[in-house]
Amino acid sequence: MDLGIKGKTALVCASSKGLGKGCAMALAAEGVNLVINARGAEALEATAAEIREAHGVEVTAVAADITSEEGRAKVLEACGQIDILVNNAGGPPPGFWPDWQREDFLKALDANMLTPIALITALVPGMIERGWGRVVNITSSSVKSPIGQLGLSNSARAGLTGYVAGTSRQVAAKGVVMNNLLPGLHETDRAASLVKATSDREGITVEEARARRNAANPTGRIGTAEEFGATCAFLCSQYVGYMVGQNVLLDGGAFNSTM
Ligand code: NAP
Repeated sequence: MDLGIKGKTALVCASSKGLGKGCAMALAAEGVNLVINARGAEALEATAAEIREAHGVEVTAVAADITSEEGRAKVLEACGQIDILVNNAGGPPPGFWPDWQREDFLKALDANMLTPIALITALVPGMIERGWGRVVNITSSSVKSPIGQLGLSNSARAGLTGYVAGTSRQVAAKGVVMNNLLPGLHETDRAASLVKATSDREGITVEEARARRNAANPTGRIGTAEEFGATCAFLCSQYVGYMVGQNVLLDGGAFNSTM
């Protein structure tokens, strides 16, 4: 299926690895030129080279912390016209609710709520002017089903979700479509470190910890960055125009509900 976005340009934040990279790859496969970003320059340049080699699109790599004002300025400076914005960044650290102080919340809000909002504020006016744009925010399944130790993430991502709910409906008539993509567990570096932590904590092998984790999901496995990227590319496509302000859960059915 041709998604009808060949020749568009996307900014995909936090995309040298994991889910962001999956999104960048899938967009490149559709002929979308890219600005990609991460803090570490080495992995970022390697990913940029891999994408150019695989799909022959233009890739600009900007090493910067997207959650800082200077980092965002550096990324935006490297961007020409951006038609598609994929917001992403690392998640806040786990913890326990009595320990979280104002500073911890401000950090989480900055990274996972105010950073995507700042990029939307910077880039959506241009999309409106041109009458076409797509925004996908990578949030988390924890927006629908809270994860206790990720309270900082639950809070910041819920804030972004509220903002997108209202804003997506204000820009929809201008040709700008904004939705959120909610990952459940996916096979990335982070998932691998969680398996290792379970194996250490419970005195079982890594294979056993992985098998237990997989068995807990209705699919008997966890998601891949490729599947995640393909869904992201669809949410950036010409065919998504009537799908506005939605929260698309990709969790293999782990969230148990009828609707
Ligand atoms: P990952 O494998 O750890 O990859 C994170 C990517 O983001 C790397 O390229 C990293 O590169 C970059 N990055 C992190 N912080 C950044 C920053 N401040 N500025 C610029 N780039 C940054 O993570 P992931 O598993 O793909 O997860 C992506 C997002 O989805 C996270 O917010 C995570 O909490 C959320 N999520 C993931 C899962 C899952 O199962 N994977 C489930 C639910 C939610 P550098 O380190 O070099 O910057």
